[in-house]
Amino acid sequence: MIINGKEISQKIKDQLKIQINELKQQKKRVPLLAVVLVGHNQASEVYVRNKVKACEYIGIASQVIRKENNCTQDELLSIIEKLNKDVHVDGILVQLPLPAHIDEEIIIRSINPDKDVDGFHPINVAKLFLNEEGFIPCTPHGMMVMLDEIGYNPGGKEVVVVGRSNIVGKPVSLLMLHKNATVTIAHSYTTHLKEITQRADVLITAVGKAKFFDQSYIKEGAVVLDVGINRDENGKLCGDCDYQAMAEKAYAITPVPGGVGPMTIAMLMTNTLLAYHRRSYGI
Ligand code: NDP
Repeated sequence: MIINGKEISQKIKDQLKIQINELKQQKKRVPLLAVVLVGHNQASEVYVRNKVKACEYIGIASQVIRKENNCTQDELLSIIEKLNKDVHVDGILVQLPLPAHIDEEIIIRSINPDKDVDGFHPINVAKLFLNEEGFIPCTPHGMMVMLDEIGYNPGGKEVVVVGRSNIVGKPVSLLMLHKNATVTIAHSYTTHLKEITQRADVLITAVGKAKFFDQSYIKEGAVVLDVGINRDENGKLCGDCDYQAMAEKAYAITPVPGGVGPMTIAMLMTNTLLAYHRRSYGI
């Protein structure tokens, strides 16, 4: 089974669009997402463009604040402070990576946790750890929704996550744990990686290495969620998995492109509407 992230994300965006239309009909204001982009990183430009496009499609208002590469940390902090105080702004997203002279951790911590739609602020990280309501980082959240969509319950299953980043590996491991999976987190220091991944009922690959995983890494009938976004030797977009080979052995697998990637934006939109409702009604 191919887990079609494009289709699932489209469904989510259409549902959100209906909700925004209802707000419009009730003459209420629509949510506003503020996106801060520093410098001219090519990938970041594409990500921001896609986020704005998704906002436009759904009917969420967006505001992009662009700064040149030489923007200072203090300047950026004062922009965020303004957005924090702006009652019309529901969600704030600072596109990463930032230029090397800016401390990303300081910037993330300066965002009001109630507007932190990326779910990176330590308050939201703690809430995820405690399984309390906060903002769940978009990519891991998207993966959980995908499993839900195919009717797969990870409860009691062996889930192996390869990669331990703060934005993917760690949060998805916690989400799986909260769903009662038995979770193993592997990383670059892991020995006998293949023996571990072969045990997985669900394998999540988030290492950022083109076609690193082949058929031999999984057992028959596993579910594979490939987070990696890489270029292969021909410059074509590909995941961490050798998709063709693994698809023959897996029960279900996400392609790249068209898998986990589109879900990230759909969940960002979901978080923005959530931020709006929480701020509007104090829930
Ligand atoms: P990071 O570079 O932050 O983390 C990579 C992880 O992979 C690290 O934990 C690293 O281990 C581990 N790793 C590296 N090499 C190996 C190896 N040989 N064996 C086992 N583990 C290894 O990456 P991100 O989590 O930010 O992203 C991962 C991939 O997902 C990238 O391709 C990125 O582009 C993509 N991505 C896709 C998104 C989407 O929307 N689809 C969103 C976010 C990311 P260690 O910690 O020991 O260094």
